[in-house]
Amino acid sequence: MIGSKASEETPIAHDGSRRLLIIHYGELALKGKNRPYFERALAANVRLALRGVLTGSIQRRPGRMIAQLPPDCDESEISRRLGRVYGVTNFGIGLSSSTDLDDLKSTTAHLMADVSYETFAISTRRADKRFPLKSTDVNQELGALVLEKFGGRVNLDAPELKLHVEIMTDGAILYIARHLGPGGLPVGVSGRVLVLLSGGIDSPVAAQMMHKRGSQVDFVHFHSFPYTSKASQDKVVDLARIVCECQPRSRLFLVPIADIQKEIVTEAPPALRVLLYRRYMGLLAERVAETLGALALVTGESLGQVASQTLENLLAVEAGFSMSVLRPLVGFDKQEIVELARRQGTFGVSIEPHDDCCSYLMPRHPATKARAADLDAAMDALDVDDLMTAALDAAEEITLAG
Ligand code: ATP
Ligand code: MG
Repeated sequence: MIGSKASEETPIAHDGSRRLLIIHYGELALKGKNRPYFERALAANVRLALRGVLTGSIQRRPGRMIAQLPPDCDESEISRRLGRVYGVTNFGIGLSSSTDLDDLKSTTAHLMADVSYETFAISTRRADKRFPLKSTDVNQELGALVLEKFGGRVNLDAPELKLHVEIMTDGAILYIARHLGPGGLPVGVSGRVLVLLSGGIDSPVAAQMMHKRGSQVDFVHFHSFPYTSKASQDKVVDLARIVCECQPRSRLFLVPIADIQKEIVTEAPPALRVLLYRRYMGLLAERVAETLGALALVTGESLGQVASQTLENLLAVEAGFSMSVLRPLVGFDKQEIVELARRQGTFGVSIEPHDDCCSYLMPRHPATKARAADLDAAMDALDVDDLMTAALDAAEEITLAG
């Protein structure tokens, strides 16, 4: 297991033919005493993302992690999966070697025999400064071997092919392609939040942003079944699954609010309808969040995007909450959000048609500058306490395996 003393001391087999994965992480290194905690979370998430591929342990070395890969593993699949694990800065897949110069040379020859290039460079990093040769010496030794055996030209500034050599205390890894990870912090290190997930484009992206900064995310979705379809709920489940692929297990709560909405429609001023839906969604979400130990609510709201998201309206709605609302998309244009949704793979599902419970009896002239006091007064005239409890009792919980 990563993090245990045993794993740090267990030597990796360096017989020159083992496939190794090496992972670098940036921001983590800055986290001082919390570092082992961050590294454990990252290792657990990497293991989850690579389930079915990794069988052995993930081992910690200063500033990096390494793991042995089966000889027949699919590099592009590993790359696709690790490309979604927050906290990973970059990674490479290569061959192990001992730190003996002759072994480094034979492993270099092994790797370079399979590739074509015109210009190349060798880039050596020593994690173990006790290693007798300097990085530049290793570069020269291995570069000379490549020139002699395979030809080509050295280009240090913009090589077509770069061979990375990383020398650690107990062995080395050599690899060619360095793949970019998504950066950020590993999911799990920044507390738990509850995302209000609609079937639209924005809220799945807001969830992704929270993942990116290390929050564990659970979801709540409000629906007006039977006035909205089951298919619309399935769509939300699909979205949550995509967001949570490669992340630790999370939960989605489907909460029916049609009865509360009916009360609002018959008893409250039409101009405040959507804002009251939102107020009750937030209040119900708070109760769900409390049971989960979530510390904040998250929405996909972006300032001024639609009438319900003017600054006045956002503040009037949240004034009734005791929990903070985080809005990671507040300063984003729709086009920027669409781009992030495409990259995350939710866009295609988000644009499928669905019934939005907030368009249920949408008024012709919604308020754009509501005040909290207006919403409070409208709520005082409603008799929904029992309906709220009933909605939570009827909520359906779905477990999303990461
Ligand atoms: P989205 O893509 O999130 O639907 P939108 O522009 O359609 O974005 P709105 O419908 O105005 O936004 O909703 C704003 C936010 O309120 C959503 O991002 C989401 O966080 C929350 N929300 C709206 N409807 C629901 C719902 N039915 N269940 C849960 N949360 C919702
Ligand atoms: Mg919406």
